[in-house]
Amino acid sequence: MQALLLTSCFVAALLVSLALKYWLATRQMRHVARHRDAVPAAFAATIALAAHQKAADYTLAKGRFGLLSTGFGAAVLLGWTLLGGLDALNVGVRDALQPRWGDMAYQLALLAAFALIGGLLDAPFELWSTFRIEQRFGFNRMTWKLYLADTLKGILVGVIVGLPIAALILWIMGAAGSLWWLWAWGAWMGFNLLILVLYPTVIAPLFNKFEPLADRSLEARVQALMTRCGFTAKGLFVMDGSRRSAHANAYFTGFGAAKRVVFFDTLLSKLTPSEVEAVLAHELGHFKHKHVLKRIVAMFAISLAGFALLGWMSSQAWFYTGLGVEPNVAAANDALALLLFMLVTPVFGFFISPVLANLSRRHEFEADAYACAQASGADLAAALLKLHEDNAATLTPDPVYVKFYYSHPPASERLAAMRHGVGAAA
Ligand SMILES: [Zn+2]
Repeated sequence: MQALLLTSCFVAALLVSLALKYWLATRQMRHVARHRDAVPAAFAATIALAAHQKAADYTLAKGRFGLLSTGFGAAVLLGWTLLGGLDALNVGVRDALQPRWGDMAYQLALLAAFALIGGLLDAPFELWSTFRIEQRFGFNRMTWKLYLADTLKGILVGVIVGLPIAALILWIMGAAGSLWWLWAWGAWMGFNLLILVLYPTVIAPLFNKFEPLADRSLEARVQALMTRCGFTAKGLFVMDGSRRSAHANAYFTGFGAAKRVVFFDTLLSKLTPSEVEAVLAHELGHFKHKHVLKRIVAMFAISLAGFALLGWMSSQAWFYTGLGVEPNVAAANDALALLLFMLVTPVFGFFISPVLANLSRRHEFEADAYACAQASGADLAAALLKLHEDNAATLTPDPVYVKFYYSHPPASERLAAMRHGVGAAA
């Protein structure tokens, strides 16, 4: 009975979310196509028609591709769950390994096999996106050699970082009694904090080169801005983002007052020093308003709820049978429960994504306002337009699509908010 209820809820959520995704995507594509022929009046003086049309074509190409990969993703999800894919994989791996090597080896092998198959299924889409779509619009700088090297390094990092944490969580699930989910949550949070520290210093350098910023005048400018805003920079670095993509970015990492600032080389080549300063001031605004901390706290709370839910459901037989998997009788079910949970929760999580996107857009307005106070608003506006143009981001998105998906407000709204002062915007 409960199993049937779970199956129906899952199928209903999947169908509704699919319908919603298709409706939103076609709205966005129609809206962009309809506005392809003219640059919006507010941008007529700054954006050329050719750039505007390139942005429209890029948005349409990504939109069509998105429809295809959304459909494929749903088919794969059904394949894993109700159509019996995960059940078959589980039986195969379990019968081959568990009797001889025990629960832990079997469960780790199941997770690894699942990750491997999932990666292989995703690979064609990733390749098409990088070597076809990004290539066609002049963004891709990735070579096949680099792609293979990245894939191998990614697998290696996955094994070195992923296997130990998976083993720890599985061990806690098996050994810590009925409150295991609380302990597992603690371990997961500790792991996330560790990654926050290790990522910039150990993992990111495996994939990119980081060199100290050589431009002395820009360094002086950035240091002055940081001091003015009450931050100390632990180091200013330039990252060779251009190795893979022409898209530009800048970010901060680090704890407390000492921040590591990373500029993509693509950003430095496109923006003037004062525009770089304004972009940085925007990023500092995120820290000043504690957006980063709020995001981490929110992630902690959401994962606690997730682990509590998993703690309850993983002990119910209907959780497995309702999603197309026969629970093991003589072996541990923990890896199976983790996989099912990771597969199915995003279907339901999709419905709260507009709430999170809305919060994120509010944060962007706050960071913009901070940047306008600490640096030049005109420079921030100019940088924003340049980045929009360089990334071929559309200036005419569909308003409903924006509400659902956009983590950043559309350029028109951000520029208007900067012109009119802050309060009006948020
Ligand atoms: Zn931002």
